[in-house]
Amino acid sequence: MRRTRLTHGDEPPTEMSLDDAAEELASTLGVDKAEVKEDLEKLVSYSVPMDEAKQSLRRKYGDSGGGGGGGGEPPATDLVDIEPDMGNVSVTARVLTVGKRSIRYQGDDQVIFEGELADETGKISYTAWTDFSLSPGDTITAGNAGVREWEGEPELNLGESTTVTLEEESLDVPYEVGGERDLIDLRPGDRGRTVEVKVLEVEEKTIDGRDGETDILSGVVGDETARLPFTDWDPHADIAEGASVRIEDAYIREFRGVPSVNVTEFSTVEPTADVDVSDSATEMGVREAVEAGGVFDVALVGNVIEVRDGSGLIQRCPECGRVVQNGQCRSHGEVEAEDDMRVKAILDDGTDTVTVVLGRELTEEVYGGTLEEALDHARDAMDREVVAEEIAAGVVGREYRVRGALSVDEYGANLDATEFEESSDDPAARAEAMLAEVSR
Ligand SMILES: [Zn+2]
Repeated sequence: MRRTRLTHGDEPPTEMSLDDAAEELASTLGVDKAEVKEDLEKLVSYSVPMDEAKQSLRRKYGDSGGGGGGGGEPPATDLVDIEPDMGNVSVTARVLTVGKRSIRYQGDDQVIFEGELADETGKISYTAWTDFSLSPGDTITAGNAGVREWEGEPELNLGESTTVTLEEESLDVPYEVGGERDLIDLRPGDRGRTVEVKVLEVEEKTIDGRDGETDILSGVVGDETARLPFTDWDPHADIAEGASVRIEDAYIREFRGVPSVNVTEFSTVEPTADVDVSDSATEMGVREAVEAGGVFDVALVGNVIEVRDGSGLIQRCPECGRVVQNGQCRSHGEVEAEDDMRVKAILDDGTDTVTVVLGRELTEEVYGGTLEEALDHARDAMDREVVAEEIAAGVVGREYRVRGALSVDEYGANLDATEFEESSDDPAARAEAMLAEVSR
């Protein structure tokens, strides 16, 4: 799995460490310190790790120290043989994917290119800090590419000191060239992906971005294989509800426990032929969904074993929508609380449990009455709890098929239900399937 490298690794070098390094280099190489420092600053601004930057300057100023052997390029290496601690290597490889992205590094916006390279022996992730005009399908030789480690895996850095030459003969590799994928196959960390999807929901939002207030789009896209949330950081006019679009160069990151499609200023969005969207959610066991770290659209079948406190009639803050107790919002103090209804039910399918949250509409259905009727009911009984009690009496001990977004946080698993129906599954078949899963 790949991930952003913004937050990992070496601390940005301080002015002091740069100065020290320049001093040391200048004296061992016998060259002007100001000149060396300028070079160092430049390399470091391209995110070249300090050790690598020093090594590259030693080469530039002709010192063969460190066993480098006098300025020649490192030997050609098969991708499978690359180890995280190798320093620099030269590789001949096919470009599988290219994703273009802007990152903020040490206060500056910088455009980088990320993706995967492959040869006959394996594949490796890369980041290019300069534009080598890479395209998927190209066969290249990258001379003097830096190797870095990320979570134990090596990856290649193509920077200032790397030479990239396009090979005329194409390398045959046992991997898919290009970024086209179905939604179900997307994973957080993927770069340079192309998808054809239908926009199912879209909403304009104003966020506090790194450059102040910015308008973005967020919503849900779908294809025949899955539905996923998306964010368009640079709103494209073709992304409209009901539209089918081809999105090139999207990157994928994790959002509330599920992969999310990210569209940027570098992505291309074009209308395409109508995309069929599967209407069924992925059926899973609770444990499987929890272990997946969350699933955007999942169907679970299990027994309601308890209706939790905070169900039935509740009151919300009109400002933030949080549930309030005795008219007191944790953020807004004393407020004119608004009545609402919900259910928090514990569903158990034999593999694990999940808290299923029903909003007002589904709660009115299981209660068998509207909010107004529930309020009358409570008033007559002089007890608001009667509503939760009546709901519990109706659902506890019964089997339900629930659909929605399952997320996992430090308090456990929650499912925001979009559907909640008494299960018509054959209980015997259900038990058998459950036993099969438990014994796996
Ligand atoms: Zn509030």
